[in-house]
Amino acid sequence: MERRYVSVKTELPGPKSKEVLERKAKAVPRALANLAPFVVAKAEGVTVEDLDGNRFLDFSGGWGVMNVGHNHPRVVAAVKGQAERFLHTDFTAVPYGVLVELAERIGRLAPGASPKKTVFFNSGAEAVENAVKISRAATGRKAVIVFEHAFHGRTYLAMTMTHKAMPYKAGFGPYMPDVYRLPYPYPYRTPIAMEELERRLLALVDPREVACVVVEPVIGEGGFIVPPPEFFPFLRGLADRHGFLFVADEVQTGVGRTGRFFASEHFGVEPDLITFGKSIAGGLPLSGVVGKAEIMDRPIPGSLGGTYVGNPVACAAAMAVLDVVEEEGLLARAEHIGTLLKKGLERIQARFPIVGEVRGLGAMVGMELVRDRETKEPATEETGRIQREALRRGLIFPTAGIYGNVVRFLVPLVTPDDALEEGLSILEEAFQSVLD
Ligand code: PLP
Repeated sequence: MERRYVSVKTELPGPKSKEVLERKAKAVPRALANLAPFVVAKAEGVTVEDLDGNRFLDFSGGWGVMNVGHNHPRVVAAVKGQAERFLHTDFTAVPYGVLVELAERIGRLAPGASPKKTVFFNSGAEAVENAVKISRAATGRKAVIVFEHAFHGRTYLAMTMTHKAMPYKAGFGPYMPDVYRLPYPYPYRTPIAMEELERRLLALVDPREVACVVVEPVIGEGGFIVPPPEFFPFLRGLADRHGFLFVADEVQTGVGRTGRFFASEHFGVEPDLITFGKSIAGGLPLSGVVGKAEIMDRPIPGSLGGTYVGNPVACAAAMAVLDVVEEEGLLARAEHIGTLLKKGLERIQARFPIVGEVRGLGAMVGMELVRDRETKEPATEETGRIQREALRRGLIFPTAGIYGNVVRFLVPLVTPDDALEEGLSILEEAFQSVLD
């Protein structure tokens, strides 16, 4: 297929990238490992260009941050405009209107009829930590229920709540107490009935001690696992029966990724609290918790915050992101992209038996690679080789899953159809080069 978006003219890394990467190895700890074997010079829409003039399709979308695409002109203009007015006051020192307006808007976007309030932070992990703080303050209880395959971030509590030990927890213990883990219903590998989940909960912890359950509507880093439709309604009922809060972690699924602004909407339930982050500010650090007003008001004045939380430039960027999502119809576009991606991946599945399952919700689409469709032995090493072959040919995508055997896409929702096709054809070539 003719390449319109991708152009790789040098070995990777090219000479200019190589020079920076050599300095990186000396100046930056190895814990910050890189997906791409090159250094970015600029990015626009779905493409990233490196220092040597090579152009790539970025189906990682900056790890789920670029739902409106790299450097969307509306976001860039909003950032410049706000930067010229003021960069920072600390909202708790001198408040500003753009944060209030953004809180109102996100409150309206959150599912359910109850009045909402929103508090902002910088990273997804901080949003998760604060959702737990709010839940504990609101319930006077301490235990937190999380799930297998979950990823909630890298701070101590969020890391404890994350499932996968390698590499996320390697050498970092001891972890935080009062975090209890249940199986996540994983239709391809480990389906579980809802009654069994409740039995497991009762065996694990006294439900009267539980402050909240924190759960991803679709598992992200843990392998794009879509739960059965009864899961969220079941959790809502469980939380109500036992008097704890239901927190949806939408850091990865939010901002239209699944075809609804928040993925919880697919399941027809109103979580008590929702965390969001990643794509909300089009590339600037911003996250938050939106939830039922009476719960959000339980922590006392001064008890939540942080120097940079809800930075005005990030808030202005987020206002532009919400405009773009609305005006460019990105929710419908996410559905369309999801359909095209699934079709393309199923084409690859028909050709290569290593593809065990293609799955997803909206544009949150991935596929799980296995050595044998019967035993479902994870094809971890092959997944890495396919990823590297695709990169060499100009396509960036992340892998996922506790076995690292899921190919997943977090393409910008502004990606044109022909760019999707070009990426899929590169992926197919990568499969061919590794497996044929
Ligand atoms: N929660 C979910 C569902 C995530 O996918 C992530 C990041 O991938 C986080 C929380 C942590 O976000 P951050 O890396 O911004 O701290």
